[in-house]
Amino acid sequence: MKKEMNSAEMARPKKWQDVPMAGVAFGASAEAVETGQWRSIRPVWDSEKCISCLLCWNQCPDRAILTDENGKVSGIDLFFCKGCGICAHVCPKDAIEMKPEADFPSDSGSR
Ligand code: SF4
Ligand code: SF4
Repeated sequence: MKKEMNSAEMARPKKWQDVPMAGVAFGASAEAVETGQWRSIRPVWDSEKCISCLLCWNQCPDRAILTDENGKVSGIDLFFCKGCGICAHVCPKDAIEMKPEADFPSDSGSR
């Protein structure tokens, strides 16, 4: 018969066999969720100013900074970009400017 664990035993499992069974979450849906719909301000990237230092690519929480086959920044994926502004904040060349979404009435950035 299976031994029941008390709360003290559950809090500090001694080996993996002591860890209680748990549910398994299958298939994350992050790639299907259009987080770009949450955006109220939009990053506008200036390729002329960009030196491809990749600071924005490294800091973007949504992996929305796009790169080409040579590892250079090539644009911003507005499907995922939430408009947090981190990329513009870290850019040493002011190559990304945050602008109100209202400035782009006919372009939602959707795919
Ligand atoms: S942080 Fe600025 S300069 Fe660096 S890759 Fe991004 S846009 Fe280009
Ligand atoms: S605004 Fe935020 S989410 Fe959008 S590209 Fe910049 S860092 Fe990524």
